[in-house]
Amino acid sequence: MTKIRMTPDGTLAVPDTPEIPYIEGDGIGQDIWEASRRVFDAAVAAAYPGTSTGTPQGEGQRRILWRRVLAGHAALAETGESLPAETLEVIREDLVAIKGPLETPVGKGMRSLNVALRQELDLYACVRPVRYFPGIESPLKHPELTDITIFRENTEDIYAGIEWNAGTPEVQRVLDFLRSEMGVTKIRFPHSSSIGIKPISREGSERLIHAAIEYALAHSLTNVTLVHKGNIQKFTEGGFRRWGYELAEREYADALADGRLVVSDVIADNFLQQILLHPDRFDVVALTNLNGDYASDALAAQVGGIGISPGANINYSSGHAVFEATHGTAPDIAGQGLANPSSLLLSGAMLLEYIGWSEAADRLRSALASAFASGQFTRDLAPSSSVALSTQDFADAVITHI
Ligand code: NAD
Repeated sequence: MTKIRMTPDGTLAVPDTPEIPYIEGDGIGQDIWEASRRVFDAAVAAAYPGTSTGTPQGEGQRRILWRRVLAGHAALAETGESLPAETLEVIREDLVAIKGPLETPVGKGMRSLNVALRQELDLYACVRPVRYFPGIESPLKHPELTDITIFRENTEDIYAGIEWNAGTPEVQRVLDFLRSEMGVTKIRFPHSSSIGIKPISREGSERLIHAAIEYALAHSLTNVTLVHKGNIQKFTEGGFRRWGYELAEREYADALADGRLVVSDVIADNFLQQILLHPDRFDVVALTNLNGDYASDALAAQVGGIGISPGANINYSSGHAVFEATHGTAPDIAGQGLANPSSLLLSGAMLLEYIGWSEAADRLRSALASAFASGQFTRDLAPSSSVALSTQDFADAVITHI
């Protein structure tokens, strides 16, 4: 048995040798995947060394059976398609996957492969833990106070892509409808306006906030903060806030009463100040899609980790989860051994934790922290005075700390 399965009680059943598909990705994808896979295997082998009962070598151990699936340039070259149906089928079947960055061609009318994967599998929660690793340069005086896990809604908001271009007959129909049927008089320059639609639903908000609260409780974190612009967008952003509070009161009354859980809210612009001034006030934050986009980069930057931040896109009901490096394909350094694999490494640690292999995840994170603390860096993070390691040498260095 090599398939991870979702059980009827909503937990994952994970065999000792699960098949996990990976997409290497474009650009630096190949470099960082090869380096990361070696570290993942070393962390798993060290965490689960097997039995001493005389079973054949390898038996009784945990080991990941990596399965290569294609997307991006490699897929185009081998199959003529950027996202072959087989890739989606394998990930759909195997539930959990990991990927490197994929190029999004600009202005060629092709939708982003990343967005396609999220939509096809309805991966509604974008989860990004942001924490500081000593040794990394940060613009903050006390970056170590930042330890925040972001839950960004991944399927709604302006990302639904419902908009009409100024000057087209389509936008004219929308404008006519708004004026004649809805009595809208507030559009300042109707003749030259483009119009976009922002859908935010109770269901979409609740499932995201539910996931954030579950994560907080599972990790003994008290504060769940709803970040929104409900002061301006009363029904969409305001709905997100209201539905969040209602959900918490309805489903988590006990945890609220005994102080294990505190749910609060903050307006998005204030949040961007607070994370700089008092980052220690936040544990888990739940945001609508666009606010989550801005906040993810701002938070990553303040711990110096924009290039090393991990991420996952998860549907907690079906169990589908795609873990990914959050940076792009870095075409300027591809194939030169200069890429930093840390974002993919930490995404892999999230994957290991997600499938319940926390011992391996902890080993991986501590080994990476030890590498940084002992001054081992790839070129992007190395202080100018020190010698930078190549991608593969950095992976070797991390493995020595496992
Ligand atoms: P980028 O993240 O690829 O590069 C920005 C800068 O950061 C470059 O100087 C690059 O060398 C550096 N960098 C990025 N990752 C690095 C790493 N691991 N180690 C060392 N340096 C690193 O952003 P971009 O140039 O705006 O985008 C390039 C392509 O990547 C575009 O096609 C974009 O659509 C795509 N992209 C994909 C994803 C994804 O798959 N999740 C995310 C962002 C961008």
